[in-house]
Amino acid sequence: MNKNLVEKFNSIIGEKGKVLTNEEDLACYSYDAYAETPVMPEIVVKPTDYEQIQQVIKLCNEENIPIVTRGAGSNLSGGTIPKSGGCVLLTTGFNKILEINENDLYAVVQSGVVTATLAKAVEAKGLFYPPDPGSMNISTIGGNVAENAGGLRGLKYGVTKDYVMGVNFFDPEGNSVKGGGKTVKLVTGFNLQGLMVSSEGLLGVMTDITLKLIPKPKTSKSMIVFFDDVITACEMVSAIISSKIVPTTLEFLDNFTIRTVEDATKIGLPTDAGALLLIEVDGYEGQVEEEFSKIFELANKMNGRLKVANNIEEKNKIWEARRKALSSLARLKPTLILEDATVPRSKIPSMMRAIQEITKKYNLTIGTFGHAGDGNLHPTILTDRRDKNEMEIVEKAIDEIFDAALNLDGTLSGEHGVGTAKAKYLEKEVGKGTILYMKKLKKGIDPKGILNPHKMGI
Ligand SMILES: Cc1cc2nc3c(=O)[nH]c(=O)nc-3n(C[C@H](O)[C@H](O)[C@H](O)COP(=O)(O)OP(=O)(O)OC[C@H]3O[C@@H](n4cnc5c(N)ncnc54)[C@H](O)[C@@H]3O)c2cc1C
Repeated sequence: MNKNLVEKFNSIIGEKGKVLTNEEDLACYSYDAYAETPVMPEIVVKPTDYEQIQQVIKLCNEENIPIVTRGAGSNLSGGTIPKSGGCVLLTTGFNKILEINENDLYAVVQSGVVTATLAKAVEAKGLFYPPDPGSMNISTIGGNVAENAGGLRGLKYGVTKDYVMGVNFFDPEGNSVKGGGKTVKLVTGFNLQGLMVSSEGLLGVMTDITLKLIPKPKTSKSMIVFFDDVITACEMVSAIISSKIVPTTLEFLDNFTIRTVEDATKIGLPTDAGALLLIEVDGYEGQVEEEFSKIFELANKMNGRLKVANNIEEKNKIWEARRKALSSLARLKPTLILEDATVPRSKIPSMMRAIQEITKKYNLTIGTFGHAGDGNLHPTILTDRRDKNEMEIVEKAIDEIFDAALNLDGTLSGEHGVGTAKAKYLEKEVGKGTILYMKKLKKGIDPKGILNPHKMGI
């Protein structure tokens, strides 16, 4: 970037924030958590106040400089790779919890607040912000809204979109826009806060986000159930839901993932199990006991081997199996491709059968785990991007995984978003008319196409 322009960015950001232009610094923002070829930005700015954000956007608009808004860069769909270079606008310096309102049950946060920081702050007041992506110790609320992040509690409590009451953001010309607010009911104008959900940085730069809070559940209880075969475990998921119980969490690990986690952690998982389910129920004590014993009975009926957590240490040990799934799988090969095709929950057994067939057909290493209760499985392909022949086979396998999900009335992505990763598949799911509508919307809001270009294929 020419010196003159760098000077302009410097004079906007001043002493408090940061402007990065040297190659080593820029390299850190050339990639995200999705395994894709990195692309260098020309400049990275870290504003700390509204005025700075607005001025950066105005300057980029005047100079036709692409803007990639970036929180923690933990997205799994290539959403923050600066495909056209340009300016990475970091939100991590914009990280204040502005209000936690215990009377009206909402919080207002700046978009760079880390998810776990908010969750802890509201819990200290006896309140609960349920969306808990596995990345919550680093991910930002802005990134969560832009990707509509889910988590382990999605089954009972929903995902990020279910908690977004209001969003303030800047459009690509630097105009300040207000969507929603602090009231439970609000119908003045378009649902612009909803428009920001899943917008992946293409429609505006979010600054303040108002989130719904709920009372913290009184108690919870967890169990782990091992099954001899994977299909029975999947049928157990459908059996729990169809018996009208909605656990907080209903997570799944297949045999390959169990063996890999055990190898890495030595926490004592039976490596002969075909699959396991991690189940947690929460609420008032009576309700928890009743639901827990119903699930216990179901598991026995379906020949599951049960392990109940009797105290917090045992509960943490149970959850470690799930928490360590991704990192344990990542140790095995240089490249990990984590998919998140999702189907209606009753179709989990069919989806699992399809994944097993695809694994066999292409002789690939695939470990599957995930939020089974949401129908959201993570078939995780372990490969090496440098091996061109194997990557061609991987592409075919991914195509077939997506086809299987769509044929079962599912979706390509339950929570990781489109970004660059799924752009070429999007039309298959939504159709030409929808792509055209999205393109018109983008063109209307961002005629110069400066906000996160080359994403979502629009
Ligand atoms: C180990 C691991 C576990 C994960 N587990 C989960 C999980 O359980 N559930 C889940 O849903 N995801 C999960 N993810 C994916 C990821 O953490 C989420 O997508 C998260 O929401 C991204 O937040 P971020 O702050 O890192 O956003 P980034 O990756 O920085 O950005 C994501 C997108 O949001 C846009 N964006 C960010 N901030 C703003 C803003 N202020 N205004 C406008 N656009 C903005 C960016 O342009 C980009 O398109 C996981 C990732 C990892 C690495």
